[in-house]
Amino acid sequence: MISRRAFLGSLPVMAGWCAFPALASAASAGGAVLSAPESVSVGEAFFVKIVCPREARRVKVSWLGEELSPVLRPIDGHYENWFALGVGLGAKAGGYRLRVELATQGKTQVLTQLVQVSTRTFPEQHLKVAKKMVHLSKESLDRHYREKKLMKAALARRSPERFWDSPFVRPVPGSMSSAFGLRRFFNGEPRAPHRGVDLRGAKGTPIKAFAAGEVVLTGNFYFSGNAVFVDHGQGMVSLYCHMSHIDVKEGQFVSAGQILGQVGSTGRVTGPHLHFGLSVMGNMVDAMPIFAGKGVPTTRE
Ligand SMILES: [Zn+2]
Repeated sequence: MISRRAFLGSLPVMAGWCAFPALASAASAGGAVLSAPESVSVGEAFFVKIVCPREARRVKVSWLGEELSPVLRPIDGHYENWFALGVGLGAKAGGYRLRVELATQGKTQVLTQLVQVSTRTFPEQHLKVAKKMVHLSKESLDRHYREKKLMKAALARRSPERFWDSPFVRPVPGSMSSAFGLRRFFNGEPRAPHRGVDLRGAKGTPIKAFAAGEVVLTGNFYFSGNAVFVDHGQGMVSLYCHMSHIDVKEGQFVSAGQILGQVGSTGRVTGPHLHFGLSVMGNMVDAMPIFAGKGVPTTRE
């Protein structure tokens, strides 16, 4: 078998393309290679790789108005890392430029790649819930706004290190009951679209962490019920809602597959299930293709 070093060494410019066939395109400058897909759909995550022959003092990734400064890891005499990006439900179709700035030994290299974003139409879903879950009292509304701030702060985490590794863990084995992106109506009234996936599970079913990371927020929230937010690093945060019980604490590091708590029916629900959300650089994305391994790189050597 050819060694990783020899393999990469034999592919000076097109390494990104040849070594990672799941990626459709690669841009290179000064020996650095950026590999990313050429097209993605609204509500999808995608994985990007940077390979740099020299140590980078600073890496700046810009995508859809968001910025990330990921750390590149030394591997076999070069520096590299994977990170995830995504396209939120609100994005319009068109070409968007992914830009990576690498500052190495007094030189700044810029790699860019055009990514085509396509839109799709999501079906409607009509649900019946308690009145107080659609028309909030002043007290409940104040509570909701306070909680929204905490959640926003958790999703705004941009830890430069990557804690996640593939393969990712499906938190519960149950099948999907509500898809990502559904245009929702509660008691006949339009509300925010479904920015996660609902997975079937009886009350008490253990919920596993999607990947390694730091528990950054836990609590009981008006709509989400008992919920846990885990920061997987480099802008990836997962969230688990409607739990009957929480088994972890804020500030705790968890490994992939570690039990975070149990399935329940707390918050705005029609019955026990797990609402699983995945955010990449602030964009909520569909986790189902990732559970299926679609476009997910192998990060373990
Ligand atoms: Zn849900």
